[in-house]
Amino acid sequence: MQSDVIICGGAVIGSAIAWNLGQIAPELSVTIIERDPSFQHSSTALSASGIRQQFSDSLNVAISQFGVAFIKDTPARWGLDLNLREQGYLYLSDTDSGAQVLRENHAVQRAEGADVDLLSPDELKTRFPHLNTEDLTLASLGLSGEGWFDSVGLMQGYQANSTVTRLNDKVVGLSVQSGKVHAVKLASGAEISCGAFINAAGPYAAEISEMAGIMLPVEPRKRTNFTFDCAVAPEAGLPLMIDPTGVWVRPEGQHFLCGCGPEDDPAVAHDDFEPRFQEFEEIIWPALAARSPAFEAIKMQAMWAGHYAYNVLDQNAVTGAHPEISNFYFANGFSGHGLQQAPAIGRGVAELVALGAYKTLDLTKLGYERILRGEPLLEKCVI
Ligand SMILES: Cc1cc2nc3c(=O)[nH]c(=O)nc-3n(C[C@H](O)[C@H](O)[C@H](O)COP(=O)(O)OP(=O)(O)OC[C@H]3O[C@@H](n4cnc5c(N)ncnc54)[C@H](O)[C@@H]3O)c2cc1C
Repeated sequence: MQSDVIICGGAVIGSAIAWNLGQIAPELSVTIIERDPSFQHSSTALSASGIRQQFSDSLNVAISQFGVAFIKDTPARWGLDLNLREQGYLYLSDTDSGAQVLRENHAVQRAEGADVDLLSPDELKTRFPHLNTEDLTLASLGLSGEGWFDSVGLMQGYQANSTVTRLNDKVVGLSVQSGKVHAVKLASGAEISCGAFINAAGPYAAEISEMAGIMLPVEPRKRTNFTFDCAVAPEAGLPLMIDPTGVWVRPEGQHFLCGCGPEDDPAVAHDDFEPRFQEFEEIIWPALAARSPAFEAIKMQAMWAGHYAYNVLDQNAVTGAHPEISNFYFANGFSGHGLQQAPAIGRGVAELVALGAYKTLDLTKLGYERILRGEPLLEKCVI
């Protein structure tokens, strides 16, 4: 069997690349290999589904702006409403240095045209009276283009609207000769020769790279999400709020969704999806109750754990071709923000594979070269 392009991993990133390849170069044959078509353990299905413009790196701002425009356009494009709740993100700082970081980020975001406002503690209190603001130094609120949406819906939109070949199989080896991936070996015993190979394996990205002898500093890190009920809910329109403690919370229908960055954050086994319940009891609830009396009487409803494909170097995506194995392409290491990046990354990687260059957004600085040089592309706004 032969395919012009083989994509390992068919969740949101792999599907976004495949759909864009179909738009840009319909003459190419494209095959997605997916080991679990239920996607039950994929990061995509377990995501908190947020999209924001509030990044410290201008390219990440532009990538999300592309993403939100794409999401808003899916009703017209695909007849699909992804239920975007455009309620914003609200970052809080409680130190002078934290306020300075918010100001610097704000300058970057405004230069990219993001609709973000800085609020003093008094202005914040006027806007959200239930919040305790005495300890705060500054807040940053997204006024439009930020919120949350249907993550699985986005993946399914890409899948339903492309005509690629999908194989339920597992990539177990790559045959590399003279600086090219020649063939992909599957658990079923099949071997498919290819013109280009794209790694879209999420938390498994390092294992797939290793099959070509490539080191990729991406590992599975566990994040637990919780939903809870509130005895007396705060007023409607609460954004996704990121407390200075790192605890975040947002409305989820009639309920609330929350999580935190764990204090101890080791790589975990690929099959370890045991939620860390103690994070809710010991970190999240105390922080939320201190921030708002509305969160004093809450009852946890459900919890689940998913894996970030955590880029240990800088928590930023790695995209583009390998400098030596020139038809091996990365779409990896998205850490906590890959869902919102799928539209732009899908477009960019497809352009690079089919046209030989980025055309829409220049993603060059996300390239693998920085990994080789050990030079992080630091993103200060990570959740
Ligand atoms: C709890 C949590 C909350 C998050 N919140 C947000 C958020 O609010 N906003 C945001 O933008 N992002 C968020 N993210 C990150 C986002 O979900 C991911 O970055 C994004 O879904 C990555 O998509 P992916 O397709 O790269 O990976 P995945 O969705 O993990 O898909 C990878 C696929 O590759 C397949 N695969 C792996 N190995 C093989 C193999 N050998 N052969 C064949 N197939 C293989 C897997 O089965 C899987 O289906 C969150 C993630 C988690 C875990």
